Amino acid sequence: MQIICVTCGARYPLDTRAWVCENCRGLLEIAGAPRFDPALIDANEKSLWRYRAMLPMPDGAISVSMGEGFTPLVETRFDGATFFAKLDFLMPSGSFKDRGTTVLVSALKSFGVARVVEDSSGNAAASLAAYTARANIAADIFAPAHASPAKLAQIAIYGAHVNKIDGVRENSARAAQLAAARGDAYYASHYYNPFALAGMKTNAWEMWEQLGRRAPNAVIAPVGHGTNLLGIARGFQDLRDAGLIENLPRVFAAQAENVAPLARAFARGFDHVPATDPALTIAEGIAISRPAHGNEILRALIASRGGAIAVSEDAIAQARNDLARAGLYIEPTSATAVAAWRIAREQFTADDVVVITLTGSGLKATQS
Ligand SMILES: [Zn+2]
Repeated sequence: MQIICVTCGARYPLDTRAWVCENCRGLLEIAGAPRFDPALIDANEKSLWRYRAMLPMPDGAISVSMGEGFTPLVETRFDGATFFAKLDFLMPSGSFKDRGTTVLVSALKSFGVARVVEDSSGNAAASLAAYTARANIAADIFAPAHASPAKLAQIAIYGAHVNKIDGVRENSARAAQLAAARGDAYYASHYYNPFALAGMKTNAWEMWEQLGRRAPNAVIAPVGHGTNLLGIARGFQDLRDAGLIENLPRVFAAQAENVAPLARAFARGFDHVPATDPALTIAEGIAISRPAHGNEILRALIASRGGAIAVSEDAIAQARNDLARAGLYIEPTSATAVAAWRIAREQFTADDVVVITLTGSGLKATQS
């Protein structure tokens, strides 16, 4: 396996410190990663590591795992209809980010990395702080000063160093990248790093197994940089390439109206995603005005006949409260997908299997 630039084809070793192409700033991918093979699923392993043979692990890597993944898929009656809730907030650090982090930190440990830097509004950094603590790797986190106090506290309690950065989310990204460029730390970006993205594919593979080895008709997920939805889309593409499903599920991106670059591009029929102005939303986990994987996600939405849906702050808050009355306590970022389902549902029939991924625990944002 190697790291390659998807734009110019430049090649890098698997343990490169580059987070985008050094020639052209293109996104980096893993070339030569294993293909999906159902015969290689370790059915005795009740975590996402049941797919270890299909993950891009360096030779001899030992998994840094706390039993993450294989989260429940729960049929949920809501607003007089039914969807399946994928409870990805039931992870060791309380969010879906652990899918990517467990794969990334396992790779970094095998590379001998001693220190990482990362920027995050909270969940990705909390996840990285948890797994680096587990792996005895030092972590330096750059987070918006306005992020949920509960998330910032969680990161610090794991033992990571928290640098609070004023202003919009993008300021934290710039600070982390500067720190990585200056020192010897590995920039463990949850949205640029291809190991982290590979881990996100396991969500699709789990849905496929849990639904009796078939794909749902549609999947709805909140989208910021888009690694969750992109991992899901790629995971189902793997299943189709392996001849295990005929059709890809329709994928729907849920965004907050305040920060909705993908929904705007989709509504206008663009083939690329222009950046929007940075802004704040209670869906803090997806307050991303310049999504790293925006163009590829837009292509996935169009190819699957899905869509992108922007919802108001009020609709997000209402969906958070209403879903709690159905027993599921999630953070506002996750509730964006439930609010989007309320708009998209007219496109579904009663027989359609629709999955909403619930990405973060409500306990992380009780103040909002
Ligand atoms: Zn390049």
